Amino acid sequence: MTQTSVHRLAMLPFGMLNAFLLVRQGRAMLVDTGLPGAQPRIERALRAQGLGWSDLALIVLTHAHIDHAGSAAQLQRHTKAPLILHRDELAYAQGAKPLLKPSGPFGWLFHKTGAIERPFEPVTPDRLMTAETLDLAEYGFSAHLVHTPGHTPGSLSVVLDGGRVIAGDLLASGILLGGIALRGRPKSPPFEEDSAAVAASLHRLLAMGCETFYLGHGGPLPAVAVRRHIDRLQR
Ligand SMILES: [Zn+2]
Ligand SMILES: [Zn+2]
Repeated sequence: MTQTSVHRLAMLPFGMLNAFLLVRQGRAMLVDTGLPGAQPRIERALRAQGLGWSDLALIVLTHAHIDHAGSAAQLQRHTKAPLILHRDELAYAQGAKPLLKPSGPFGWLFHKTGAIERPFEPVTPDRLMTAETLDLAEYGFSAHLVHTPGHTPGSLSVVLDGGRVIAGDLLASGILLGGIALRGRPKSPPFEEDSAAVAASLHRLLAMGCETFYLGHGGPLPAVAVRRHIDRLQR
């Protein structure tokens, strides 16, 4: 079977914010959309793979914070690709103020800037994920979505073949917003609604055989680093 290739879209420098373009047999899936105004960046990424908007088969949002869902509504106008979001994330996608529970000092500082609370254009998904898992075979990908709550209630992860997973903001690495330095060191993202749920979700992904964790901020991290992070969360 042809493996899906994973292309990181650096939405900010130094790995501070990543989206991902997954490509298999001339079809693309976009995981997260970056901040508002990211459409030209995404178009360049498609073109770099020899693809265009009509080859985009699916858009998945790992969760509905502005740095992941900020360009989603704009993209929906631009492409016919259906957009999937988990049911428990719908309120945030439609403009409810996110519960931003800082996980540490940087989170507090970041919270004060109000940057992440900025409203963005509300998104109405074409398909709501209502189950705990969703097979993406019908969209031409050997992958499935897994509900992995904790960072937010409706966070989801994209589990691919080869032990690879795109885990959104379930965890992060690096300094500040992920990236710049120490990218191999796992940490919580600046905000985390429920640490115990994050630990359970990470356990679930490991139990499913996930070995390489691609992240919204920093990463990728190997399973051994993820286990270390779970231990810290449970201390
Ligand atoms: Zn987030
Ligand atoms: Zn984020």
